[in-house]
Amino acid sequence: MKKILVTGGAGYIGSICVEELLNRGYQVAVFDNLSEGHGKAIDPRADFYQGDLADRSVLRHAFEQAKPEAVMHFAANALVGESMTNPSKYFRNNVASGINLLDMAVESGVKKFVFSSTCATFGIPDRMPLDESLPQRPINPYGESKLMFESILRWYEKIHGLSFVALRYFNAAGASEKFGEDHRIETHLIPNILKVALGQKDHVEIYGTDYETPDGTCIRDYIHILDLAQAHILALSSPQSDFYNLGTGGGTSVREVIETCKQVTGRDIKAIEKPRRAGDPPRLIAASEKIRTALGWQPQYQNIRAIVESAWAWHVKNPNGYGD
Ligand code: UDP
Repeated sequence: MKKILVTGGAGYIGSICVEELLNRGYQVAVFDNLSEGHGKAIDPRADFYQGDLADRSVLRHAFEQAKPEAVMHFAANALVGESMTNPSKYFRNNVASGINLLDMAVESGVKKFVFSSTCATFGIPDRMPLDESLPQRPINPYGESKLMFESILRWYEKIHGLSFVALRYFNAAGASEKFGEDHRIETHLIPNILKVALGQKDHVEIYGTDYETPDGTCIRDYIHILDLAQAHILALSSPQSDFYNLGTGGGTSVREVIETCKQVTGRDIKAIEKPRRAGDPPRLIAASEKIRTALGWQPQYQNIRAIVESAWAWHVKNPNGYGD
């Protein structure tokens, strides 16, 4: 399989997967509506089709031209908070429009569908680390929309024989040399801290210091974007359809991330303690034994320092992100 269509290839995770696919000799077509993504984040070696998944005719045109053998599907809305105020947007874009993509994949004989899912499909887990046998009980429309799409994938496989791999992850971070994280509304921890280091923000807020964790702040499993890209590429050659959780298995608290950013940037970073943010579980760590065993995934960036270093290098080079 050499021809891959990547939806959301102008977004943070998609752009770096596109770059890695191209580096490995794949032919890539990007499909993106540029609502969240950036034109400059599209690797110039890729073909680009601008369109919305809701528009079947543009989608059909892209499939007819690109003739993909596999699809990687990143295009989605992904803000938990927004999903709690505007569920319609999440179910419409992440579920209904995604069905157009699935139909087109079936119609054009796509052999593998790789889906960007999330550990948010699990809600608040009964135990940690989060492995694939835990029940999925999402606590927000974002997680629910991704779980619904996972269920639809099962049926498309059963009925149409569409082979898929769904990868569930949290807290993608870091950058490649060329591409990095630039959201128009930035809610994520690491880019917000680095904006303070760059002098673009006065301080970073710590959402909650009274959690039942060693230093009182939330613990997350930060995974380097290049390790995520590796997993997506391995998924292309997965012999069967399956669901995999993806993380490094290590946990880093908000205070530890801030401390690492201070060390890496050599700058003072003012942090202000605030109340908890709604919907934040205290500790989320993904188990990834299943994907290591089944697909041979081996993350290269096992520590938060290497992740922050790559993010900082990109932000220093691109202080205004993609500038749009
Ligand atoms: N967080 C924070 N300040 C910020 C952004 C995030 O304290 O400006 C915390 C957030 O409450 C969570 C962790 O950092 O515990 C990671 O948040 P992020 O939004 O990066 O990812 P999430 O875990 O929500 O997917």
